[in-house]
Amino acid sequence: MTQPTHPAGRICPSCDGFASAAITLGGRNRHGHLHTITAHCPTCHGTGTTRPTTAPVRERARV
Ligand SMILES: [Zn+2]
Repeated sequence: MTQPTHPAGRICPSCDGFASAAITLGGRNRHGHLHTITAHCPTCHGTGTTRPTTAPVRERARV
């Protein structure tokens, strides 16, 4: 028998699963490495997946 698999979620439609990118800023440090920053997909926050909403979230008014 095969192991049951749990879907990790749907692939993010904004980034197609490529949720992070290293962007070079130009120049190198004294070790010869490129200066980079990491940018995450704003939709999935770097996870590459979207979680299906199972239940609607209701807001409650506090008195
Ligand atoms: Zn994304």
